[in-house]
Amino acid sequence: MKILVVNTGSSSLKFQLIDAKKNFTELYSGIVDNIGKKNCFFDAKINHTRIHFKKNISNHEKGLQEALKIMLKNKAVKSLKEIKAVGHRVVHGGEKYKNAVKITSQVKKTIKELYELAPLHNPANLQGILACEKLLKNIPNIAVFDTSFHQTMPQKAYLYAIPKEYYKKFKIRRYGFHGTSHKYISQETYKLLKNKKAKIITCHLGNGSSISAVSGGKSIDTSMGFTPLEGVIMGTRSGTIDPAIILYLLKKHKLSPEKIDEILNYRSGILAVSEISSDVRDIWAAAQRKNKKAIFALEYMAYSIAKQIGAYIAAMNGIDAITFTAGIGENAWYLRKDICEYLNFIGVKLDTAKNRASKPLISSPLSKVKVFVMPSNEGLEIAEEVINMIK
Ligand code: ADP
Repeated sequence: MKILVVNTGSSSLKFQLIDAKKNFTELYSGIVDNIGKKNCFFDAKINHTRIHFKKNISNHEKGLQEALKIMLKNKAVKSLKEIKAVGHRVVHGGEKYKNAVKITSQVKKTIKELYELAPLHNPANLQGILACEKLLKNIPNIAVFDTSFHQTMPQKAYLYAIPKEYYKKFKIRRYGFHGTSHKYISQETYKLLKNKKAKIITCHLGNGSSISAVSGGKSIDTSMGFTPLEGVIMGTRSGTIDPAIILYLLKKHKLSPEKIDEILNYRSGILAVSEISSDVRDIWAAAQRKNKKAIFALEYMAYSIAKQIGAYIAAMNGIDAITFTAGIGENAWYLRKDICEYLNFIGVKLDTAKNRASKPLISSPLSKVKVFVMPSNEGLEIAEEVINMIK
């Protein structure tokens, strides 16, 4: 049974065709990027071959059309009828969606109502849904929300200490994001630990980064909050700062809300601390050349992440495993080493060679806490949820 997984951003459409009958093998995957812009391109992998070309594609529907055309041309499927369902990554499901849902007109209405909480993502996600409904008729479309996994957080984790009316009227609370990734890697970690009750900290460290405390399979706290801006330092996002800084910039320095938004989302984080790049690879390369700003930026990152992990060890009153994933988590062994050094006090000990090789288990046999590295496969998790829904 073939499932299409679609993940749309404001100017991108990522897709994966997964064969659920063949152990969830990926048959085809790719991206249409810079949709509606001059430098729009198509990039895909099919039958171990890469297909890459530039083409002007004006919207998500045309992007999907292109992806389907190439899928047929390269015989990933003989006919579109082989696709039995589509799974959509939808960023915000608010408090309403605690699990994946079959998309109906009511669900689309709710996704729209949540535009105000996810103005960059939910509109693009709905574009993807509408394109699939139009081009792949009469099959179920399933929404898998980034926020759902964190809906198990207790009130003490999700409420902010501001007057209750802002939660009630404006829905201001911690939602958390990257839920599909935290769910997938925590479940994979449970399999490796063979202990369903374990206390795990999952570290999704990419351009956007978030850390979750997962106890007995449930997310009990997570570092991103009302928006993906809260939490640990990220590529260009500040993470948590004193909220009074915003008021100070607004009132004293007369910066507009738009300007502050731009500063905190696009000009902060690792980019601001290093003044080199938002990409850890560039910073690591500069650190190798003994660039002081780069060395400081890496120290800063490790400190920011280790502090959050420490907080979650206290929140769960213990820890059995830490799992790293995403671009930085999977590759930056030097950051994993620095982060774990802060955790020596509770008996975290890495195996140097395994950490360098990014093996699944990177802690030493002497470590009191197991440390893992694994790729996150949100597409696979979405496909599995789709199968569970349509069964
Ligand atoms: P996104 O959040 O956009 O999905 P990714 O999970 O792909 O991002 O992470 C992208 C980031 O991962 C890059 O900006 C870079 O900082 C980091 N990264 C990717 N590859 C490496 C690598 N080999 N070594 C260190 N960092 C890497």
